[in-house]
Amino acid sequence: MAENLYVNVILPLRLEGAFTYEVPNEWKVQAEVGKRAVVQFGKRKIYTAIIISVHKEPPAYETKSILSILDDKPIVTANQLLLWEWISRYYLCTLGEVMKAALPTGLKLESESVVFPGLLFDEYEPANDDELRIKNLLAEKESVVLSEIQSLLEKKNIQSIIHKLLQNQCVQIEESLAQRYVPKRVEFIDLALSIESEEHLNNLFQQLQRAPKQSDVLLAFFSLNKSRFDITVPIKKEELLKTAKDEGGALKKLIEKGVLKSVFFEESRVFAKLREIKLEKNPLNSLQEEAFFSIQKQLEEKQVVLLHGITSSGKTEIYIHLIEEVLRRGKQVLYLLPEIALTSQMVHRLCKALGNRVAVYHSKYSDNERTELYLHLATAKEPVSVILGVRSSIFLPFKNLGLIIVDEEHEASYKQQSPEPYYNARDAAVILAMQTGAKVVMGSATPSIESYYNAKTGKYGFVELLQRFHQAEVPQISIIDMKDERKKRRVRQHYYSDLLLKELIQTKERGKQAIIFQNRRGYSPYLECEECGWVPGCVNCDVKLTYHKTFNKLVCHYCGYSISIPGECKECKMPALKIKGIGTERIEDELPMFVSGLRMARMDLDTTRTKNKIEKLFESIENKEIDVLVGTQMVTKGLDFENIELIGIIDADTMLNFPDFRSNERSFQLFTQVSGRAGRRNHQGLVMIQTSQPKHPVLMFLLQNDYKGFVQWQLEERKKFNYPPFVRIVKIELKNKDLSQVREISKKLAFELRKIKSMEVLGPQAPIIGKIQNYYIMELWLKLNRNNDALKQRDEVYATIHRFFSVPELRYFKWLADVDPM
Ligand code: ADP
Ligand code: ZN
Ligand code: ZN
Repeated sequence: MAENLYVNVILPLRLEGAFTYEVPNEWKVQAEVGKRAVVQFGKRKIYTAIIISVHKEPPAYETKSILSILDDKPIVTANQLLLWEWISRYYLCTLGEVMKAALPTGLKLESESVVFPGLLFDEYEPANDDELRIKNLLAEKESVVLSEIQSLLEKKNIQSIIHKLLQNQCVQIEESLAQRYVPKRVEFIDLALSIESEEHLNNLFQQLQRAPKQSDVLLAFFSLNKSRFDITVPIKKEELLKTAKDEGGALKKLIEKGVLKSVFFEESRVFAKLREIKLEKNPLNSLQEEAFFSIQKQLEEKQVVLLHGITSSGKTEIYIHLIEEVLRRGKQVLYLLPEIALTSQMVHRLCKALGNRVAVYHSKYSDNERTELYLHLATAKEPVSVILGVRSSIFLPFKNLGLIIVDEEHEASYKQQSPEPYYNARDAAVILAMQTGAKVVMGSATPSIESYYNAKTGKYGFVELLQRFHQAEVPQISIIDMKDERKKRRVRQHYYSDLLLKELIQTKERGKQAIIFQNRRGYSPYLECEECGWVPGCVNCDVKLTYHKTFNKLVCHYCGYSISIPGECKECKMPALKIKGIGTERIEDELPMFVSGLRMARMDLDTTRTKNKIEKLFESIENKEIDVLVGTQMVTKGLDFENIELIGIIDADTMLNFPDFRSNERSFQLFTQVSGRAGRRNHQGLVMIQTSQPKHPVLMFLLQNDYKGFVQWQLEERKKFNYPPFVRIVKIELKNKDLSQVREISKKLAFELRKIKSMEVLGPQAPIIGKIQNYYIMELWLKLNRNNDALKQRDEVYATIHRFFSVPELRYFKWLADVDPM
């Protein structure tokens, strides 16, 4: 009797552990770790699961059979599974949640997935009745949810059918309708018959003698093929018509005659933009070279080297040289960038230096593109060797990773914020490197306190680069005491000091440009009643509504709730509502009132939703079509424009006063980074900071350009008050629509957690924003002793929480963990 075969799989769900399924005979040969299996879970739901083991141990409970296996080759490597496991333990989440974060949507078919006609929908010939019915359904409805197809075919196992249609590009899948991506489809013309000899070719032209236009088209086809008839490649239809000066009529005839045919290709999305670029690599100057060698030397012994290089010192150039070294050894490189820094500027620069060995993995790209790159890396014989990507690119299937670069390592956007897991790609990258034998180079002009501490204590190597390239001077910093200025009536509209305005005018007159920075966080424009102080707030959340001039509406940034502008105060009924607070939009409007003819542009979430918009914006700066760029944090990252001489920070106080243990660090980093945008070439830039706390230590260190002094001061503070890097923080968040219940449950959980030694439990307390989308929130802050094993500690915390919530009445209680919160 044949033995039964089983697989353990991970499901993309917040469920503990792996699940065992039986493998039916037809799939036994294919069952392999790292492949996707389609399984039924629960009554009706179908999921794509990842096989993590194949075995013959029958489980204690009754098993279902897997429905099918989707891959010929594994798409998840053993190394990836190791990383998933580390992330799930360290960040207190399930393997299923990690799987969800790790795989692009195209690889995770679920009952809720939405199916669209694909690129070759029209051309595809259905192979059987099922395929035909799916095609008909799609032709009629444009898009259907997978479960609809299931019920149409009256089959559970439609995954392998869909998978085949996917592979043939008859259909495509997206997670939701909103994200639908229509790939660019380009028509090419190819020879329909094979031409054996020159004679054959001559005959063909002879036949076309009476049709000169068709003859022209065919001639054009061969001339675009460099006159070779033995090996022809398809030619873009557009190009062919242009060369032949045909409007399509003659080409159509040739296609009817069976001489030519049309074929469709997808304009290759991942790599297309990167081809045909001339290589351009700069030699390093002596300081850079020194840093380069020192990094290499230290990497012989250390896993990680931290590069502290001030803005414009040439860190990027050093990375490029390091990457070349690794490529020469035939290994892969992952170049991590924070979300906002991954601009087209950066992509161009790297591609120029490294040619078409670069692929980009960006959240602004569609899921199709991401899936394409993922599969390329998993299955191609010689996959691309440099991946430039945002945080989720740590989950790609690398084959022989040699180096990970973490650019701007201090950036908060390396931390995933939602959904779970709240992993930090910088820290996970170190583990990834450890597990794959790769090295890590982290760089920043303002390294995080944690990384600097790791370097100082010898855990990481450390290299400094403290001079700007081109000998450009670091910008001069000037602090404007707004209290004093206001007293002297030298401030317009509460926010614009005459000092800053005067400088703006002069900069404009010299034909130079300026950046005005205003951080949104906690300080967006809102309405307030000047009579009674009433402020319109969100009905679902504990926040003020933000005023948006463009839509003329008040909007909640946490849940999207919006109302039109009320004509009078709800409380005292007076028409006394005034706009308070200052956002980028308001600055964009108001500045030209004080500086005549000022041409403004704005860079924030609203103006940069698409790649195109960002590129247009950069072009207009480059072409000097604008004088002032006003923006949020976005303007602080990686922008490299020659002509910018002045930086204005409208309001430093909101950042400095933000109630969070990282607010000093954040402020110092942001102010330094934004300053770095000024005077990047041969002239000295000027940074003007408006504040009512001119003696604030952060500003003093900034003024003296004293990063080390700043870190020293912060380390002392952190030590005194028991904050990272001296402890490890795990924040547990509990949510419920019933305030008293969430209070009571969090108190009980705190009591359970306090039984664990080697950690301190703070709270429960409500966070700054205590209610979001009608859910009340309570937090517990766990401060874990650094000397204990990080994973074991977390296992214990996780087990305690898991036990606590496993009683039936709490099973559906919402909780989540934020490890190393930012
Ligand atoms: P960072 O990444 O440290 O901010 P960059 O690498 O962007 O610094 O360098 C700042 C500017 O100086 C860039 O325009 C870059 O092209 C130029 N630069 C830096 N190093 C060199 C070099 N060795 N040769 C030529 N140009 C360089
Ligand atoms: Zn009022
Ligand atoms: Zn809201």
